Amino acid sequence: MKDCIFCKITQGEIKSYIVKESPNFLAVLDIHPHSPGHTLVIPKEHFVNLKELKLELAEEFIKMIQEIMILLEKVFMTNDFTLGINEGPLAGQTVSHLHFHIMPRFKNDRGGSIHSVVYNPPQESLEVIYQRIKNES
Ligand code: AMP
Ligand code: ZN
Repeated sequence: MKDCIFCKITQGEIKSYIVKESPNFLAVLDIHPHSPGHTLVIPKEHFVNLKELKLELAEEFIKMIQEIMILLEKVFMTNDFTLGINEGPLAGQTVSHLHFHIMPRFKNDRGGSIHSVVYNPPQESLEVIYQRIKNES
């Protein structure tokens, strides 16, 4: 897609640090790493978010994530990671091309857990929340 920075990366139009490549994905170092080895797994095709990802690519996506974790474990001597996707602008997505963050974690690295990303507990009870979801599913 025109003007998409990650399409430019996957098409080799701009420089990136490619850690690994598979037929449909690239793993590249994040240009502003939040931890040593912070890597992004990016589909070569332009999908805005996880819902758009073709299901037939899901296994290759997960395999790439696992392989990068194994590689980073060896290089950085840690088994711990924060993994995830900022899905949509309210969640902090700044590049509208699906990408999965792999952030190696270390003792005393001053980071928090995923729980620290947001604290906006519902006003309704869990029972009401549950029923609202069940009514829709
Ligand atoms: P998000 O906020 O989840 O959309 O994350 C976008 C990520 O892409 C950020 O962590 C940026 O540092 C990273 N990023 C932006 N441009 C580049 C680039 N040219 N090469 C590698 N990473 C990039
Ligand atoms: Zn794109």
